[in-house]
Amino acid sequence: MARLSMRSADIKPSPVREMLNVSQRPGMISFAGGLPSPETFAGLALPPPPRELLQYGPTEGEPALRERIALDLAELGLDTSPDRVMVLSGSQQGVDLAAKLVIDAGTALAVESPAYLAALQVFRFYGARFQIIDRSAPGAGWGETPPSMAYVIPTFQNPSGHCWTAEERQAMAAACRARDVILFEDDPYRDLVYAPCDRRPVCADMAGGSWIYQGSFSKTVAPGLRLGYLTASPDLFPLLVQLKQAADLHTNRLSQWMVLQYLNDPGRAQRMEQVRDLYRRKRDAFADALTRHLGDRASWTLPPGGLFFWLTLADGVDVEVLLQRCVERGVLFTPGAHFLAEGGASSTMRLNFSLAEPEAAERGLAVIGALLRG
Ligand code: PMP
Repeated sequence: MARLSMRSADIKPSPVREMLNVSQRPGMISFAGGLPSPETFAGLALPPPPRELLQYGPTEGEPALRERIALDLAELGLDTSPDRVMVLSGSQQGVDLAAKLVIDAGTALAVESPAYLAALQVFRFYGARFQIIDRSAPGAGWGETPPSMAYVIPTFQNPSGHCWTAEERQAMAAACRARDVILFEDDPYRDLVYAPCDRRPVCADMAGGSWIYQGSFSKTVAPGLRLGYLTASPDLFPLLVQLKQAADLHTNRLSQWMVLQYLNDPGRAQRMEQVRDLYRRKRDAFADALTRHLGDRASWTLPPGGLFFWLTLADGVDVEVLLQRCVERGVLFTPGAHFLAEGGASSTMRLNFSLAEPEAAERGLAVIGALLRG
């Protein structure tokens, strides 16, 4: 038998990637993934890319793109510069690099619950033990041995859609600074905003501390380009560059060039406004349909941004059984239990509202509602 590493013994299939396969079946209505609406991949007429991009490039990414990203990040209040910006092969790569940087078997990591399941999967793979963050008192319970790193999505969280208040953000930064905890902030949804709320990065208040802040072009340009970026405090940035070099040398240069054209396009701001309008309308139509079909069976709050509704059903509803019955009827969603760092059962579910057309969403929610009513 092949001799594998100890960590390979624990490799488990990602429930979401599995469901993406099911969602490819014809006629499926999927609320399961976090897929942007294909309408938003606005056709941008691109000139042919320069041939020199076919050559190897720098690990940190294309200088012009790093400059452009650094400008946006400085506007958010982050202490950074182009030489502390690294382009990633999707922000999922940033999760992997941060995990490699920090986690040994048994390393304590502070996470929200629920939390982004593909990050939990990576952290588990490297051997992390989880502590749950209490937003109202971050740092409570850190005691003698604080966690090495806190991983948070303060703005339009995946899966809950929640956005932290200014006070919660400041308290989190203060707690991490006080105990030398690395703050890892994942911020792919920041530009998908539908209602006023505080979006200042927590990392903007981490002066003197250790932090990693990352963003993504998956939700605002196109996920298939696989392009994200990170910036980090000066103590961590060079180490992350070396880990990236070992992982893939550098990010695809054609993707970087395409995204730069997109960012520099004069119609960009207007297009982002259209994307937000589209998603706000989809969210509102989804909320109406939810009220009609699930109003007496579930509770939720209207997400002020991002791509998801988080639903809580009556205690005792077996969401896995519900999912099986939904799949038989051509409807997919993600059970909330997958997002719980502490594991266990949960009568919650995550529904994506950006992909399905309103008419299909209506039919899909009607199916879930009818099954819940038995
Ligand atoms: N972080 C969060 C919170 C996400 O929701 C996602 C995508 N669903 C990612 C990271 C990864 O995104 P990408 O690799 O496409 O940038």
